[in-house]
Amino acid sequence: MTNQRGADAARARVTATGIRRVGADALGIDWADGAASVIPLRDIRLACGCAVCCNELTGEPLLDPAAVPADIRAARIAPVGNYALTFEWSDGHTTGIYPWETLRGLADQTGRSDQTGRSD
Ligand SMILES: [Zn+2]
Repeated sequence: MTNQRGADAARARVTATGIRRVGADALGIDWADGAASVIPLRDIRLACGCAVCCNELTGEPLLDPAAVPADIRAARIAPVGNYALTFEWSDGHTTGIYPWETLRGLADQTGRSDQTGRSD
């Protein structure tokens, strides 16, 4: 039972229950474990794991952070099945797919928890 509960908790950590834009430059994600994250869009762009941005065999980053505009925007944010999000970036990049695990990892690393959405 303990193992099952642990697996459920692990799944809840990477299950999104809602996404929303936060201002022009951040994405808010609500998680099934009750957490609410706000992740700067530029951090998401920089974490792109597609073959253009990252060597798929070695994991070596190929993307030069200096090449990503500070004011990068997402023209479109869309779900991929129920396991990931994809973004159309204002720098023209569209090939990145971000599994929820990746986004949760980013949220824990660079995001801030969302205090504003909880008070009302
Ligand atoms: Zn990419």
